[in-house]
Parts: sequence; C-alpha cells; structure tokens
Amino acid sequence: MVKNYINGELVEAVSGQFFDNYDPSEGTPYDITPDSDERDIELAVKAAEKAFPKWSNTPVEERSAIIMKIASLIQRDIGEFARAECVDNGKPLALAKTVDIPRAIRNFEFFASAIHGFSSESHSMEDKAINYTLRNPIGVVGAISPWNLPLYLFTWKIAPALITGNCVVAKPSEITPVTAYMLSEICIEAGLPKGVLNIVHGYGHKTGKAISSHPKIKAITFTGGTKTGADIASIAAPMFKKLSLELGGKNPNIIFADCNYEQMLETTVLSSFRNQGEICLCGSRIFIEKPIYEKFKKDFTAKTKKLKIGDPLQANTDQGAIVSKEHMEKILSYIQLAKEEGGTVLCGGNRVELEGRCKNGWFIEPTIIEGLPYNCRTNLEEIFGPVVTLIPFETEEEVLKMANSTEYGLASIIWTENLSRAHRVAAKIQTGIVWINCWMVRDLRTPFGGMRSSGVGREGGIEALRFFTEARNICVKLQ
Ligand code: NAD
Repeated sequence: MVKNYINGELVEAVSGQFFDNYDPSEGTPYDITPDSDERDIELAVKAAEKAFPKWSNTPVEERSAIIMKIASLIQRDIGEFARAECVDNGKPLALAKTVDIPRAIRNFEFFASAIHGFSSESHSMEDKAINYTLRNPIGVVGAISPWNLPLYLFTWKIAPALITGNCVVAKPSEITPVTAYMLSEICIEAGLPKGVLNIVHGYGHKTGKAISSHPKIKAITFTGGTKTGADIASIAAPMFKKLSLELGGKNPNIIFADCNYEQMLETTVLSSFRNQGEICLCGSRIFIEKPIYEKFKKDFTAKTKKLKIGDPLQANTDQGAIVSKEHMEKILSYIQLAKEEGGTVLCGGNRVELEGRCKNGWFIEPTIIEGLPYNCRTNLEEIFGPVVTLIPFETEEEVLKMANSTEYGLASIIWTENLSRAHRVAAKIQTGIVWINCWMVRDLRTPFGGMRSSGVGREGGIEALRFFTEARNICVKLQ
C-alpha cells in the first residue's frame, strides 16, 4: 500500500480514501494509492514551511552528504526499485534496471556534487561600487511529474530543489506512484530531516491542482502534457510563481542519404520504440531523403518486426505494456485516425494479446505508417506510443519546413555525415534539444527543455540550480 510522506511520516490521505493502482502487464489492480486533496497539501506545506529555516541554513556539505546517502541507498536497493518500476509502468525490467533507476541515482549524485561549483557573479564598477549576486533558496517549492519515466523524472526535479536549500511538496503521477513511495522510505532511512521533502499522492485535478494553487508554494517544476502545463500556468502565473514547464513533443528524426546507415538504423529503432515510444524525446516523425526511402522502409520495417513484445519481467522483452488502458485506447484511436487520413500501416497497428500472465495486459505492436501528408493530425499531434510515420523529402528547405510545422519544439535528431549540413540544419530546427548522429545521449550539465508548446524554462545543470534560487543583487558603494 502506497502512503503519503508528510512531515517525515508515512500517512494515509486525510480523506481516508484510496484508489486502485494497476499492473499494466496484467490489466488488473495490484495496489492502492492515497486519494489526497487540498487538506493533505496543506499539511505538507505546513511541514515544509516549518523545516525551511533549518534546512536552508544547513551547511551545503551536510545537505550534500544526505543527498548522496539517498543515492547510495537507492543503489543498494536497485533490484527492488527496478522491479517496482517495471510492474507499475509496464516497461521492460531491463530498461528500468539500466536506464530509469541508475539515472535516478545519478540525479541525486549529480546535484549533490554540482552544488559545490555553484557560484554567483560579482560586477565591479571600478572605484565607485561593487555588486554581488546572492542566490538564495526560494522557500517551499512544488514538483509534479508524469508516469513515463517515473522515478527518473521525479528525482530530476527533487534533487536540485533540495540541494539548493528549498523544502519540497512533490506529487508523482497517480498512474505510477510506487517508486516515489519507496523513495520516501529511503529518505527516512537516510536521515532527511522531517518536512524537507513531502510526497503527496493523488489525482492531478485534486492533489496537483492543490499544489499549483497553494499561495505558499512559490515555484513549480512540472513535467507532463502541454494542456496540463497550460492549466497549471493559468493558475500559477497570476500568483507570480516561478514556473518551469517541460511539456509534450512531436519530434522529427531527419535522415539524410549520406548518413552512417547502420548506426542510424539501429538507433532509429530505439528512438522510435524504446519504452513503448513513451518517451517525450522519441522521434515519432521520421523524414527520409528520397534516394534511400525505399531501402530504409524495408530495413526499418524488418528490424521493427523482430522486436519482442512480451512480459516486461522477462529478460528478452523489447516492448512491454502500455501504461494504462486509457492510454492504450488513445494510441489505438490515433492508428485508426491515421488510416482514415489515408495512411498505410506497414507493420503493427494492433493490440496484442499475449499468453499466460499477461493475457489481459495492455500491449500494442510497434507501428509504422506511411503515405500521410506532413500536416495531417497524425503528424501534428502527440501520440506518445509505439507509433511512427515515414515521410520522404527532397531538399533541406523542404524537410525543415515540415519538421518545424508542429506547435511543439522539444527535441530533434539529424543523421548526416556532412558536417556543414548538420550544423546548418541544427541551427534552423526549432527544438530545445538537437541530437546529431545520436539519440538520448545526455550530459546532465546541459540545458534541457523545449521551445514553443513543448515548454518554458530549462532544467539541468546550472539552469536547475538557478531556477530553484532567487537571485538578488547587493550593491555596495565604495566611497
Ligand atoms: P499529464 O499532464 O496528464 O500528468 C502529469 C502530472 O500532472 C501527473 O502527476 C498528473 O497527476 C498531474 N496533473 C494532471 N492534471 C493536473 C492539473 N490540472 N493540475 C496539476 N497537476 C495535474 O501527463 P502524463 O500523461 O502523466 O505524461 C505524458 C506527457 O508528459 C506527454 O505529453 C509527454 O510528452 C510529457 N513529458 C514531457 C517531458 C519533457 O521533458 N518535456 C518528459 C516526459 C513526459
């Protein structure tokens, strides 16, 4: 049973109510989650406010040591964490073990170490005056995260908020609450002082909304859908809260004929279907230069057909379950829409019924669609599942126009061995992250975030440390 973590204690929701948590690979409930509301958020904010003066004045070495301890305890329990993430989300166990949980550990380690190099500026006005900037913690901050990379994204927000001296009220997705609950147990064991981190579980429209509308929560870091981001901003902006919004995407993967073909092919299978395509950075629109279109189509389809859809707990599974029934139905409705828009399904397109334990699970075949115009709904709206479209192109200008045609601007991928072209296209493509001849290569020091409807603000490295602090300039007259 999942519980809230408020003021250092594991407690039930004030309402006393719970809702079911599903195992997507079986399609059945296996646990219960507290149905929290504004009363629980109020308790969490009070605890965070009480903890703030002491935590924000705790020497940075001590804060860092506690955060490092949290990282080492997750490392100790990595097997349990990976299994829990796999069961809760439906992702393959191997992925949770090699990507999700190691990255959650790394998030804590990275920020516990990055804080030591976090300095602020000084501006001298010759012998007239000197300015220096103080970067102080904000106070109580809110963090709201999605279900696709549950612990990975939850900790990406919590770690920089805590290390800069803030106290946090955090809400994981109601669809994948378990590893956040396990993190609360780890925080207690690591000796994180009471109230410094509070984890409140529940639905977005209740618990999440109570966070965005609480007057004492001065900053909100959110990752999730674009529409939810707009809702949060509409409540938080008039209250002058600091906001960092990491939202949806519809990322282009642009393949030029002169690319390193084998490397591109191998990576494109991953950038299309990893985590069942439920990664905001997946390249769901694949643009292929005409001379290699037919060859790519044949090879890519053949490789995709070999992906093993199966029990996420099995070591040889490439494609696990879709996170929820509702999300599975949404993806299937987009495949139907693609057909209605005139698309041809080259492979996949259907729900999969497995044998045994996963018989009623929510599985969808990796799906490739061609023959659609670049500006139809299928090619403009975020599907967030194992569905990609193939679109041929002839010139750089044409592909840039098509790639930049959605409202989104999160990430893009460019495949070419032509150095000048790689830089030229990267400069003109309107996304916050551009990968050239690679995908998902992440250095945590780099700014991370999207343009346009993919978000506002940047996370990662110094950007995150700056987001969670308030810059103040002190000017001292020298004579
Ligand atoms: P979602 O927006 O439905 O939910 C995200 C979180 O917000 C959940 O915790 C949810 O409970 C909460 N929430 C929902 N309604 C709320 C409200 N009115 N007020 C406050 N909180 C509310 O998103 P999701 O379905 O969990 O995640 C998928 C989306 O996340 C996709 O659009 C994907 O692209 C995006 N995403 C973006 C990034 C990024 O870095 N840009 C990373 C991962 C996922």
